Amino acid sequence: MDMLINGNFIDLDEKISVFNPANNELIDTVPFATRKDAKDAINAANAAKKSLENISSRKISEALYEVSQELSRELDDFARIISLESGKPINAARDEVKRSVETIKLAAEESKRIYGETVPLDAGIGGKGFIGFTLKIPLGVVGAIIPFNYPLNLGVHKIAPALAAKNSVVLKPSIQAPLAALKLAEVMNQYFPPGAINVVTGKGSQVGDELVVNELVNKISFTGSVETGTMISQKAAMKKVTLELGGNDPLIVLDDANLDEAVLGAVRGSYLNAGQVCIAVKRLIVDQNVADEFAERLTRETNKLNMGNPLSPKTDVGPLIDEEAALLVEKTVNDALKQGAELLCGGQRDGNFYTPTVLDKVTPDMDVVQNETFGPISPIIRVNGIKEAIMVANGTRYGLQASIFTENIRHALKAAREIEAGSVMINKQSTYRTDNMPFGGFKMSGMGKEGIKYAVEDMTRTKLIVLNAGN
Ligand code: NAP
Repeated sequence: MDMLINGNFIDLDEKISVFNPANNELIDTVPFATRKDAKDAINAANAAKKSLENISSRKISEALYEVSQELSRELDDFARIISLESGKPINAARDEVKRSVETIKLAAEESKRIYGETVPLDAGIGGKGFIGFTLKIPLGVVGAIIPFNYPLNLGVHKIAPALAAKNSVVLKPSIQAPLAALKLAEVMNQYFPPGAINVVTGKGSQVGDELVVNELVNKISFTGSVETGTMISQKAAMKKVTLELGGNDPLIVLDDANLDEAVLGAVRGSYLNAGQVCIAVKRLIVDQNVADEFAERLTRETNKLNMGNPLSPKTDVGPLIDEEAALLVEKTVNDALKQGAELLCGGQRDGNFYTPTVLDKVTPDMDVVQNETFGPISPIIRVNGIKEAIMVANGTRYGLQASIFTENIRHALKAAREIEAGSVMINKQSTYRTDNMPFGGFKMSGMGKEGIKYAVEDMTRTKLIVLNAGN
């Protein structure tokens, strides 16, 4: 597929190969863009700012609705592309497209709700006789950088609010999964002026870095790892920056929890997209009074999962994005076993696939719980009561989302208030996300919020107008 710069679909002699992680077969190639292509896209986006500002909010909203409808019509094609390029099971890929349709509709609605306010200037010294009001105006050019694991909806979460607030965008998708973003560009390009949306396929160290350092880019909206996000925040200087980074979400099970719900939450949360989800459940913190029963039930349910071809609707767990990722998960599990963890099921690698794995008797200091493991691993940490559970939940550098299963409202609210995370779910696993909710982590998991209303707010700036009304 070709990349989109200034309304033109562009190919280059140098290509990036895109492989299917399920069988390592070549699916397609995309242009291997360089810093120069990124600069061309940024210049085009900068030039498009005026034409976007001249479009009424009503027309922007209509255009976004048209895009959402076209995505909906092409749901099957988009889902197949996502599944092929990322290894995501087809049912989950279809869910991602449905959510993207919804995300764009939310942006279409939000584009009509960008309000300023009147300011009571006469409350200040020298303010008598003056009228003040604010306008929410576009930031200008938004640079968007996304990872491989939600190659469509993460792009939509940046492009749609940017356009809703009349900003132009340059998106850099992951080189591992750039195809859904390019197909999205094909759809969107029909409804917006040239340069409003640009999608450039190149490496983070070149195309991504150019977005971060180029002075014409007003905001960086980044989703990816803590390591890359930290580097970006240091380099972005005077730009606005939103960082949606890695997670290590705890799921607490107290001894009064409904274990059916807790086990279901753990299975759904740990193995969604083979654990390659920022808000996947990464640590199971279980009261020792129910730990044996919980571990036994979790193992039973985990063993029922089907691992295999992502295009089959019967598949629950697909491959990891590549062999390097699978080897890393294998090493993390083996290290935990050497440190004393107990393997209850899984623990096998076959090429890019890694079997869903339950580890028991894990301790809070082990790497498998200190760092984000991007794979289908459920490590059980046994604790004694709510106080220790919260302490363990807070014992890593991450703070994206968290969850607690208990029938005790006081314990639930204590955990909700004391866990350092952007969201806490009560009796629901942390993979819960609707596209309108404020989403974004604390601590090293990020900075700023997405969720359409919040992203739109963040993609505007406030201008004050003062009118000398006399008297
Ligand atoms: P990553 O390695 O940080 O890559 C993310 C993106 O950043 C890719 O497009 C990458 O380009 C680009 N990049 C790399 N170096 C860069 C640089 N120097 N300057 C600018 N851009 C650069 O992350 P990943 O491994 O693909 O994704 C997994 C991570 O994303 C996990 O930690 C996961 O938790 C996190 N994530 C967070 C959220 C959230 O909403 N909080 C959602 C999904 C995923 P290349 O194409 O060259 O790799």
